[in-house]
Amino acid sequence: MANSSVAGQIETTFLSCSICMEHFKKPKALPCLHTFCEDCLRDYIVSRFESAGQFPCPICRQLVYIPPNGVYGFPDNHFILSLQDTVTHSSSQNTESGSFEYSYHQKNEDLSLPLLQPDKYSVRFTKPGSPRLLKTFGHFGLDQDGLVHISGLTYSSMTGDILVADCSLNKVLAYSKSGDYRGGFVCDCSIRDIAVTAHGSILLAVSRAGSAIMREYGYEGNVIASYGSFYKYENPFGICVSRMGKVIISSLQHNNIHIFTERKKPSFKFGSRGSGSNHFLLPYYVAVNSRDDIVVSDSGNHRLKIHKNDGTVLHVIGQQGSQSGEFFYPQGVFVDKHDNIYVADANNFRVQVFSPEGEYLSTPVENTYEFGVDVKPTNVIVVDNRLVVALRGTRVSLLQIYDWDDSKYSQSAKTGRKQPAPGGLLGCCCPCLSSNLSYDDI
Ligand SMILES: [Zn+2]
Ligand SMILES: [Zn+2]
Repeated sequence: MANSSVAGQIETTFLSCSICMEHFKKPKALPCLHTFCEDCLRDYIVSRFESAGQFPCPICRQLVYIPPNGVYGFPDNHFILSLQDTVTHSSSQNTESGSFEYSYHQKNEDLSLPLLQPDKYSVRFTKPGSPRLLKTFGHFGLDQDGLVHISGLTYSSMTGDILVADCSLNKVLAYSKSGDYRGGFVCDCSIRDIAVTAHGSILLAVSRAGSAIMREYGYEGNVIASYGSFYKYENPFGICVSRMGKVIISSLQHNNIHIFTERKKPSFKFGSRGSGSNHFLLPYYVAVNSRDDIVVSDSGNHRLKIHKNDGTVLHVIGQQGSQSGEFFYPQGVFVDKHDNIYVADANNFRVQVFSPEGEYLSTPVENTYEFGVDVKPTNVIVVDNRLVVALRGTRVSLLQIYDWDDSKYSQSAKTGRKQPAPGGLLGCCCPCLSSNLSYDDI
């Protein structure tokens, strides 16, 4: 009963193209994560943008490069197609095991955090064995604690806060581990992803900040320093700090990864535009494991890559698709203390977990479209047995905390693997809309 109601909601709000307002026909997915009918997109582009080679997404205005073979070159959104099929066939019957329930009703006896309050988002289809949704927090809006596009998500062990960067409002907000709003500050430049240094200061990948590529902030929002003097056109996005204190930043403009020394001096860079093993296409997010190997969400190639810290390729993981272990525009990546890798598989509406070598382990969060129109995960972190997920949709911007025991996969971390130092900060990042993203590297 509840299932058919949700199916109806999904059908009317989510499976419609926002250009023609009809059910999707040949849906094509853009790198900004929005989807339109192939013909609608072609008409929209031909009318004004074809000669320019790129066009602003009709919804989010993000600039998108037109593939060499035109609109046809954008990936088909098979997820939408299969969802249309599922919704059509599930309106009259519940086809899955499991039950709808208010997640907060399943109280956790060993919950160490304060009792988390239920809200309208906590009702969802819960499969047996799925982690419990404990809390939803943050809201879409332009007010002081409002969010529009969460582009960065990290945790400060110094302050015990979850830190969020919003690339649309150019502000940083802090929340307690229970999801309570603690405060924030607004930046005078465009910000992308966020990381925390070993000293507890905040590092942001920035643009329109002169020619700097990153800025270091104090917790009150004071600028401590700007770094980089010739990065005006790099369009940086992901940022993380290695265990050795090096800073790793991805460039969407040149589809490469920049490494900076502990003193934030340019050290070297690797990668170029393409689909080969040494290439990237929109490498949004970066993270490091306990050996300082670099994990990259190679979003436009719909895969994960793991590189040694000298740039050598170690693993290329996944391909475009919706099966377990496959991706559709992956966004934020995170590495836990067992070196397992968490990925916000945005256009598949799920979070996937992989072993340190890239073997698929599980999908702790899925079907995020149930939380609102086109709501998909853009970033993920793990903090003290809690999985924190950032989500973005149509006029939706929120975070969720799930109960999560990361030790269940600890055996997949190889014996003798160096464990992260207590308090070490894992970089990670998330997706979002910068004003100048494109496939094009020049
Ligand atoms: Zn359409
Ligand atoms: Zn868009």
